[in-house]
Amino acid sequence: MYQSKLFTKTRKEAPKDEVSKNAQLLIKAGFINKEMAGVYSFLPLGLRVLNKVNNVIRDEMNKLGGQEVFLTSLQEKANWEKTDRWSDEKVDIWFKTKLKNDTELGLAFTHEEALTALMKNHIRSYKDLPAYPYQIQTKFRNETRAKSGIMRCREFPMKDMYSFSKDTAEHEAFYEKSKAAYQNIFNRMGLGDKTYITFASGGTFSKYSHEFQTVSSAGEDLIYICDKCKIAVNKEIIQEQNKCPACSGENLREEKAVEVGNIFNLGTKFSDALDLTYLDEKGVPQKVIMGSYGIGPGRLMGTVVETLSDDNGLVWPVEISPFRVHLVQVGDKDDVKKAAENLYEELCKASIEVLFDDRDLRPGEKFADSDLLGLPLRIIVSEKTLMSSEYEVKERKTGKVSMVKEVDICDFVKKYK
Ligand code: ATP
Ligand code: MG
Repeated sequence: MYQSKLFTKTRKEAPKDEVSKNAQLLIKAGFINKEMAGVYSFLPLGLRVLNKVNNVIRDEMNKLGGQEVFLTSLQEKANWEKTDRWSDEKVDIWFKTKLKNDTELGLAFTHEEALTALMKNHIRSYKDLPAYPYQIQTKFRNETRAKSGIMRCREFPMKDMYSFSKDTAEHEAFYEKSKAAYQNIFNRMGLGDKTYITFASGGTFSKYSHEFQTVSSAGEDLIYICDKCKIAVNKEIIQEQNKCPACSGENLREEKAVEVGNIFNLGTKFSDALDLTYLDEKGVPQKVIMGSYGIGPGRLMGTVVETLSDDNGLVWPVEISPFRVHLVQVGDKDDVKKAAENLYEELCKASIEVLFDDRDLRPGEKFADSDLLGLPLRIIVSEKTLMSSEYEVKERKTGKVSMVKEVDICDFVKKYK
């Protein structure tokens, strides 16, 4: 992509009405646009990141046996009444709307009700189980506070998976596997070492549910980490038991953290309310055991910005960076232009994603923009590099510069992790 053709512009100053670092940086770099408090649009660079985050999540969900679906945001009141979650007293984050004939509808803040009702059309006998539908879909929540940029929105993408199992053993085996898949997702996003599986209250059906909490000063939650077991408990659990659920150690360290995902044992709560049963091997009807597994791709992207960016701007891990390489042409003499263009074509031919800064700007401005956009590798083409047969490749994360021979450049870039 030619940067001269990119319609988004970087800004010198962060918007004054934003307090969160993720929104400030993403708006400054032209990745997102603020529509109103807690409502953001994704622009080309931001959408490339979000799509990559979604694809990492998809990859891990598909490996678990997940099957992708896409449900509607408009939801029927009747299903919500069955689980007693329709009234605004019970659920204080509803956005609701009406048809012209006054029929009330809800704008989905989650999909347990809708998906359980849907699965009644497909689950008949034990042969139809287990099933693991998931989606990456827009949720609406009338959140009271929306000051954390894209980490807490009133309209936001959520990956929500639901498991439908025959019995508790089948459910529990999947629940354990899902923990490992979640950890893979956070590792691939560069958040592995800061993300703790966190014991939370489990509701009626199990002692615990589990949150995935990434340590960050921008977090709205407090967690209590056991450094020995590398797990944590949340605020509810620390009040019930002042110790690590794994080793019973009492030496827990308090940290601010962002809940990037959670997994929940639903038992038969929804299959009871919406009457989702299957016939077992003897032909006897049984209730389906359910679980839910959420991740916020937008919140995850915001958390990456909060934890990995530096004073000069964004810093993207390779897997979710909008482009792998920022090719920066310095100087506008014909030979420099031609060399930069040639290198751009060579990188593209090697299937490397490149943002090519071909703009006619001062080098200082180009470098400042390059730091702000945060692509993993920067290659400079200038009069100086033309004199040698080597390119200067700078790693955004560490500032480390490598001199790479022209013949090795595609290899070097492809291997970079
Ligand atoms: P929180 O306690 O932070 O409000 P939650 O418990 O309401 O989160 P869930 O309903 O379990 O969250 O949603 C699943 C995932 O969706 C969360 O782990 C989080 O990553 C994401 N998420 C939840 N609310 C928001 C929001 N308002 N904006 C962006 N992402 C969100
Ligand atoms: Mg919430």
